[in-house]
Amino acid sequence: MFQSPVILERNIKNSALKMVEFDVAIIGSGIGGLVCACYLLKAGLKTVIIERNPEVGGYCTSFYRDGYFFEGGPHLLGGIEKGVLGQLLTEIGVKNKINFVQFDPSDKLLLPYGRVLFIRKEVNGTLKEFEKCFPKEKKNIQLFFSYITQKNFLDLYSRFKKKTFYDLVNSFFTGEEIKQLLNILLFGVLGVSIEKIPAWIGIAVFKEFFLDPGYYPQGGMKEIPKTLAENIKREGGEILLKNEVKKIFTKTGSVRGLLLLDGRKIKVNTIVANIDPFQLSTLIKKRKEDWLGERIFTPSSSAVVLYLGGGYDLVKDLHDCRCIWNLGPKENFYKSQIIFSPSLQNSIEQNSLKHTLEVFSFHRWREDINEKGLFSRLLKMTKRVMPGIEKNIVFRDMAIPKTFYRYTLNRNGAILGNSLTIPQDKERFKVKSDFVEGLFLTGAWYSYGGISEAAITGKRTAMAILKELKLSHNFELTRL
Ligand SMILES: Cc1cc2nc3c(=O)[nH]c(=O)nc-3n(C[C@H](O)[C@H](O)[C@H](O)COP(=O)(O)OP(=O)(O)OC[C@H]3O[C@@H](n4cnc5c(N)ncnc54)[C@H](O)[C@@H]3O)c2cc1C
Repeated sequence: MFQSPVILERNIKNSALKMVEFDVAIIGSGIGGLVCACYLLKAGLKTVIIERNPEVGGYCTSFYRDGYFFEGGPHLLGGIEKGVLGQLLTEIGVKNKINFVQFDPSDKLLLPYGRVLFIRKEVNGTLKEFEKCFPKEKKNIQLFFSYITQKNFLDLYSRFKKKTFYDLVNSFFTGEEIKQLLNILLFGVLGVSIEKIPAWIGIAVFKEFFLDPGYYPQGGMKEIPKTLAENIKREGGEILLKNEVKKIFTKTGSVRGLLLLDGRKIKVNTIVANIDPFQLSTLIKKRKEDWLGERIFTPSSSAVVLYLGGGYDLVKDLHDCRCIWNLGPKENFYKSQIIFSPSLQNSIEQNSLKHTLEVFSFHRWREDINEKGLFSRLLKMTKRVMPGIEKNIVFRDMAIPKTFYRYTLNRNGAILGNSLTIPQDKERFKVKSDFVEGLFLTGAWYSYGGISEAAITGKRTAMAILKELKLSHNFELTRL
């Protein structure tokens, strides 16, 4: 699927290249790195981003194959009007440069016995959908919705930081089916076994999913990083594409600079790593155990995605929603699918022959995958809910965990960074590293995954740097 980065082949030992100096260098241009750069530039710091791919954005990207348009990562977002992502984009000054549309309904969940539950634009609409599907739980549903949508997030966090989301759901509901559904939905957003997810993360995810769901930037997800990158350039920041950080120089435990693949060196005393912790430990040449210490680090799940192209008949089952959840047997989300159509999300005309459909499933990391067999299995699963699909496929391609690894170097092709479970939550990294002076961390690996959370860490990291450098700012952190 993704094009491999064009690597500039140069002898990195050729040190005739000049040394460049910056206040801050950011490794990786995922959403975390880009947001962080925007805030640092606002505060007047000379900032550079180094990105190994030909484009910015990391997983938040879109691409063409044979004239068919696809999303590389996320397909819908929450929190643009009422949530933290919209607030951050407004604060940076780019929200009105991106044309977000909100779909109503956004998601359609196919429940057993032919029942259907829609996720609506307004939270009360979604609540009614739940009541319709689970009439015996009406009262519990109302209590659950009013509970998770209450304003005081810090209060919720402190009360629930030691409880799992599983415990929380059990304390509200009696019926197994609704418990299963909420658990499976949460797995669908986080890719982590739900028994271990801290309750506060579940609440944060559902707040976004139920309160302000279903947004899509017209032109594709790539519009978000593209607009952030334009802002970075306007503010005087630099972005080096098709380059790669090969080494972080340290002296007496402090950051001193970077070595790039093309041989250039960057002199810098503050570095932000928007990359996975495993690669980071090789770049600073620290033994893994020196810096991981007691912390437990488990990559979240990876994924497989089918990319299909054809005429309108291929996507017509999505006429009443923008995304179908084809739920598998209970508690096995690996056998579930999320099906969506980038062409419908971009409102291309019905008679176009360039319609596109993507079928997403979580998948564990494996070196040896029988791609043909996997493709057929996944298609068979899709045919359960879209029986006529196969004859309408004109174009087909597939991404597997290795594809996701190759694109970002995220260990095991993890699509949502670290799988933040209760024990990991206790030990999790601060955005200011405690093992090398001047090294800061940002992105999905240093919280839990997703665009909103990567963006929040970007801002949090920038604020930690400004504090460290004793530069004043008036940024605050708020949640939905
Ligand atoms: C298929 C899929 C579906 C998803 N669906 C959703 C969804 O529906 N909603 C949602 O919110 N999130 C979703 N996500 C997750 C979301 O996209 C990620 O959590 C988020 O984009 C991660 O951002 P990040 O800042 O951590 O950086 P990443 O996206 O991980 O980017 C890191 C960047 O660093 C670069 N890099 C790595 N090493 C180096 C180096 N040595 N030198 C230079 N550059 C380097 C990489 O090339 C990459 O561009 C999905 C992801 C995938 C793959």
